[in-house]
Amino acid sequence: MLSNIAAGQNAVIDSLKSLLTNIQDPEEQVDIINEISYNFNLTNLDSTFHYATIALNQANEINYPSGKARALNLQGGKYLYEKKHEKSLQLNEEALRIAKEVNDHNVIGKIYNSIGINNYNLGDKENCLINLREALKHSELAKDSMTVIIIGSNLGYMHMKNGELELAAEYLERADFLNSQFKTSIGISSVQKHLATLYGLQGKDDKAIEYFTRSIAIAKEDNDNFSLGWSYLQLAKFQKKRKFLNQAKENLLLSSKYFKQRNDLENQLEVYTELSEVLNLQKQYNQSESYAIAGIELANVEGNIEHKRNLYHQLSISNSAQGQYKEANKHLNEFIKWNDSLHVLDKSERILELESMYQLENSKVENQLLKEEKAKQEAIIKQGNIQNLATLICLLFITAISFLLYRNNKSKQKYSLQLESEVAQRTKDLKNTNDHLIRSNEELERFAFIASHDLKEPIRNIISFTDLLKKEIGEKQSQKANQFMDIIQKNTTQLYYLVRDTLEFSMLSDKEKNIESVDLNETLENVRSSISDTLERKNAKILIEENLPSIKANKTQMFLIFKNLIENGLKYNENPKPQISIAHKPESEGNTFSFTDNGIGIDEKYSDKVFEMFSRLQKREGWEGTGLGLATCKKIVDQMGGHIWLESKIGQGSTFKFSIPSV
Ligand code: ADP
Repeated sequence: MLSNIAAGQNAVIDSLKSLLTNIQDPEEQVDIINEISYNFNLTNLDSTFHYATIALNQANEINYPSGKARALNLQGGKYLYEKKHEKSLQLNEEALRIAKEVNDHNVIGKIYNSIGINNYNLGDKENCLINLREALKHSELAKDSMTVIIIGSNLGYMHMKNGELELAAEYLERADFLNSQFKTSIGISSVQKHLATLYGLQGKDDKAIEYFTRSIAIAKEDNDNFSLGWSYLQLAKFQKKRKFLNQAKENLLLSSKYFKQRNDLENQLEVYTELSEVLNLQKQYNQSESYAIAGIELANVEGNIEHKRNLYHQLSISNSAQGQYKEANKHLNEFIKWNDSLHVLDKSERILELESMYQLENSKVENQLLKEEKAKQEAIIKQGNIQNLATLICLLFITAISFLLYRNNKSKQKYSLQLESEVAQRTKDLKNTNDHLIRSNEELERFAFIASHDLKEPIRNIISFTDLLKKEIGEKQSQKANQFMDIIQKNTTQLYYLVRDTLEFSMLSDKEKNIESVDLNETLENVRSSISDTLERKNAKILIEENLPSIKANKTQMFLIFKNLIENGLKYNENPKPQISIAHKPESEGNTFSFTDNGIGIDEKYSDKVFEMFSRLQKREGWEGTGLGLATCKKIVDQMGGHIWLESKIGQGSTFKFSIPSV
């Protein structure tokens, strides 16, 4: 069974709900509502859908594509679990289209995972693998470790099902390692339960038991009934094979309990089939019979022929063991009937398989022809190479003659050679230093990423649990205690923004540019709608002299520059009518843009300092910030090979200018 990205923890949902009241940023609010929806995924699909719909409406209102895509994908999750795969895939595809427009790898990874699960449930293993691999690629680009773990677990499971145990071990052990590194408990139970099954298949019994036990413990902690049912079922199968029948029976009963709570008929059916077999092996024929009968009823509802066949088989075994030969014969006939019909199904699958093998053969022949053609070409090239070699020998000959002619200048040459080798040595040293610098920079970025990634959640929890605590204690507490809680909340909210912005900053990588044509008028409109509340509240205006151009750039990064510069121009502004004018000048090799505000201005001596990380000139109430906005703009412009600078005087507004070369 493949895992979707979900967790069911009421406390987390409560804390997210209370966090909603503390966070002002409309995009962040959409993210949180989506997160609430996704946390309901295992426990209450209607709530998942309900919150995803709220998030979708809000994301539509503020034109926030990533939020929209995530919400659509979450809506698809409900249909996936209801086995309405076509409907679910439709929503996945729509979500994917939107997420691709803004190149949001984080959301794209999650969507491909859902598509893969839909493929799997529809029996399309090939596309399932293709989409899961895509999912892994995007989630790795987004450094979304939780999703990377879950997809790794899914890929491992798929390869295990295909009998490719080594590949399965590679994916699952890597996911397990990442899990232990990031301590994301939600992914763990799915990774561990698959690893346990894998170790069982590989005959590594001790490890299998260890991982089953771990997976059950974690699933219990997470209240994840599905994983509990699944792990107990797999453990029981493992024990049945090794003839630990009492334990197998106990675990099957536990598995049944958890699947019942989820009303999961499909897995319940498998548990009944296993139970009837184990009980027969234990010679508890009466009990086996009742599970077999209950199972057959379920198999009829589910239309599952394979289980029906196996259950009739068990039923005939218990009948004959109890001397009920007439019944045994009747059930044996049922067994034969369903077995035959399964073979008919098998046969039609086999015909399909043969057809695809025929096509494969065809393409092999085509390949062979292509290879022969390639070999011919290579022979021609080889002949050309022999000619080249002859030319080279001639050249060498000429060089040797020249060398003889110039040997009088030997001393001079020696000196120049020495010089060359010194230059080469210095170039090598420089390259080493450079490589070292690149490596340590990468390590630093990774550190910033991991630190901020892992800090974000605990901080968010402090904010929301303080809020819950305040509500819980209510009026009973003293005014002072109330004041202290407010201070804790204010400071942790500031800390949260700091960590969030550091994470965003550390994720700005120049490795993956995604350059496309960006209409900057559209970028400006997107910024306008994302800060429409502030514009209205401050009675502010954004003016452009003439239409802005379209340039080749990364869409999200241009949005970030525009948003940071415009927000700053409004924030550090005490004018009753704040105003920001945006101008554009085409240059011979690119474009220069300027953002001029009528705000408080900046002392000239700080014109470099403001672009440094965490540098803030004012720290007073109402001017909250993290000191990362301008550093982010600078990092983006630098990566584009451009330049950003400031022209300002105290009390006379500021002009931020940046020029970027054409790609
Ligand atoms: P912050 O999150 O503090 O706004 P930024 O990196 O965006 O961080 O800006 C760094 C500092 O530069 C700000 O704290 C502020 O003191 C100053 N600053 C930025 N933009 C302006 C502006 N338009 N007018 C005046 N001061 C500004």
